[in-house]
Amino acid sequence: MSSQPPVRHIVSLSGGKDSTALAIYLRDRIPDLEYVFCDTGEELPETYAYLDKLEVFLGKEIKKLKAKQSFEDMLRARGGFLPSAQVRWCTEHLKIKPFEEEIGDSICHNYIGIRADELHRKGYISTKPNIIPHYPFIDDGIKKEDVVRILEESGLGLPEYYEWRSRSGCYFCFFQQRIEWVGLLKNHEGLFNRAEQFEKEDPQTGERYTWSQRESLSELRLPDRQQAIIEEHLRRAKSQQVRGNQTLAEVFSASESGNESCLICHL
Ligand code: SF4
Repeated sequence: MSSQPPVRHIVSLSGGKDSTALAIYLRDRIPDLEYVFCDTGEELPETYAYLDKLEVFLGKEIKKLKAKQSFEDMLRARGGFLPSAQVRWCTEHLKIKPFEEEIGDSICHNYIGIRADELHRKGYISTKPNIIPHYPFIDDGIKKEDVVRILEESGLGLPEYYEWRSRSGCYFCFFQQRIEWVGLLKNHEGLFNRAEQFEKEDPQTGERYTWSQRESLSELRLPDRQQAIIEEHLRRAKSQQVRGNQTLAEVFSASESGNESCLICHL
C-alpha cells in the first residue's frame, strides 16, 4: 500500500510588509504553520534584521531556503547577462526552484499575502499541482491599512528600508525606481558598489549590461545626476499629493514607473 504524501501549510515570506502581516495574522489560525524565506544571498541587511524580529515574535523558525548556486555563479554562467523584467532568471532560480525543491511531492497549502485592495496583482502560482495557493487577505477583506495595523499591534512595525525604498527584494532589483537607487547609495554604499560591479560593457559589440535600461549606475551616482533624480521625485510627489490627496509614502511606492514588481519577491 503506498503512503500518502505529507500535507504542509506554508507562508512564503519576502521580508516585506504584506507577507509578514500574513504570517502574524495566520499564526494562531492554522495549526502547524511553517514559514519559509527564499534567500537570494543578495538581500538588504534590514530584511534579515526584520526576519529575525519576526522569528522571535512567531516563536518559530523561519526556514531560509537557498539555491545551490549563488547569484554571482549564475551570472557568470550567463556571460554577465543581468536579469531584467523581461528575462527574470533570478526569480526562477533563486526563489521558485528552492521553494519547489523544498516542497517536493508533499501537498502544500501555500499562503500568499496579496491584499483585498490589490486584486489586480497576481502572486506566484506554481505549475506544480501539489502546491495549492491561498489568499487569506483577499478572502477576509484585509486592506493596506489593516496590514499596517497588524504590524503596529505586533510591535514589529514596518521594515526599516521603507524609509527610502518601497518594496522588499534584492538590493539590486531592477524593478526599483531611480530614487531608490539613490537611497541605496546613501544607505548602503557598499551594496551600491557591488551592484555597479555587476554592470558590464561588451568591448566587442559595445552592448551594455546595466540594471536600469536608461543609465548605468556609474552615471546615476554622479552628484548632479543624483540631485536631478531627487528633484524630479519631489516634483512628482508634490503633484501627486495635490491631485490625489495621497500620503508621501503612497506617492513613493507608486511614482516613476508605475507599481510594477515581482510578487514572489515583493509581498
Ligand atoms: S528581488 Fe528582483 S532581482 Fe531579486 S530575485 Fe526578485 S526580481 Fe530578481
